Amino acid sequence: MRTTGCPEEKILSFLSSQKAKDRCYHKVLSSMCTLPHPLAVQVQEMFIESNLGDPGLFEGTAEIESLLIEELGSLLHLTGACGYATSGGTESNIQALRIARKEKPVESPNVVVPESAHFSFEKACDLLGLEMRTVPSDGTYRMDAEMAAGMIDDHTIALVGIAGTTEYGVVDPIERLAELATEGDVHLHVDAAFGGLVLPFLESPPAFDFQLDGVASISVDPHKMGMSTIPVGCLLTRKESMLCALNVDTPYLTVKKEFTLAGTRPGGAVVGAWAVLEHLGRDGFTRIVQECMGRTRRLIEGMEGHGYSVVVEPEVNVAAFECPKIPPGWQVSRTRDGHMRIVCMPHVSTQAIENFLRDIGEMDV
Ligand SMILES: *Cc1c(COP(=O)(O)O)cnc(C)c1O
Repeated sequence: MRTTGCPEEKILSFLSSQKAKDRCYHKVLSSMCTLPHPLAVQVQEMFIESNLGDPGLFEGTAEIESLLIEELGSLLHLTGACGYATSGGTESNIQALRIARKEKPVESPNVVVPESAHFSFEKACDLLGLEMRTVPSDGTYRMDAEMAAGMIDDHTIALVGIAGTTEYGVVDPIERLAELATEGDVHLHVDAAFGGLVLPFLESPPAFDFQLDGVASISVDPHKMGMSTIPVGCLLTRKESMLCALNVDTPYLTVKKEFTLAGTRPGGAVVGAWAVLEHLGRDGFTRIVQECMGRTRRLIEGMEGHGYSVVVEPEVNVAAFECPKIPPGWQVSRTRDGHMRIVCMPHVSTQAIENFLRDIGEMDV
């Protein structure tokens, strides 16, 4: 550390040059994050000092966190859902598996997850000492539920289904998984980190949430399609006892127990997430999701016009293509199977899609 401080202007000027090295979102087609809604930015500043890690000091903020959980719970068909705001899908998934392990304290516990699962499950299993049993996908990049059934045994503490996979944008057969979970008495965790704020706004979404009795917990990330500032994820649980299973004593805080993984937690981002939901409402979200889906369909149609087929028809605004090229200047990503992957987030405008299609077309000649 330097001995004498550096003037603010000098720091800010250094920081602007650093920021100039960051990609601006406008040609980024690979990210599940997006530009935050301006209201989320304003609210974050308003609540900038608020720490949800000590909720008794920030009662107003803590009440908003409850409202956020209540609102997401009702969107996902469970009035009175329990839960809390996490740092994102990774923390939510870790905590869901921790709950499952507490619920069923067996020896050599295992978790049955789809091949398409986000890499956060690998971290969770490593941390929690769980064997991860990976279920192969069917021909459509969805979990093969019958193979999953064959992998569940007495040591299985949790079954995981993905509603809106990170790579291909498809939804696992959650209805069937819910039946398996009920039959086998295992915790079914639905990872809807991405799809949780997309699927409810589609015309006829597949059932993936608490309307299925077997679903015990759900991850849903406002910092993706919820357009909050980073970081805000949410873990929702069907019962309060699930969260309470994680309680530890916190004698010197204003509350005497906590079930969260993080201690200090950002109030501002969480309140911002709630504000965006409240401000846009179902109508606003439906409009945004319809736009993103419309652009995804236009992208697929355009890519197919250039001879690059979509790997699987997605259910959310993520599409993967059999396409080895990347037009210069655009940021796309590759799936584990090497397919080109594009996420049509709200910042990816119709014009951006048209420009991308034009640029890819020019590479053909
Ligand atoms: C993004 C994502 C995650 C991880 O969420 P983070 O917020 O990056 O920790 C987990 N699961 C799915 C399905 C995701 O799309």
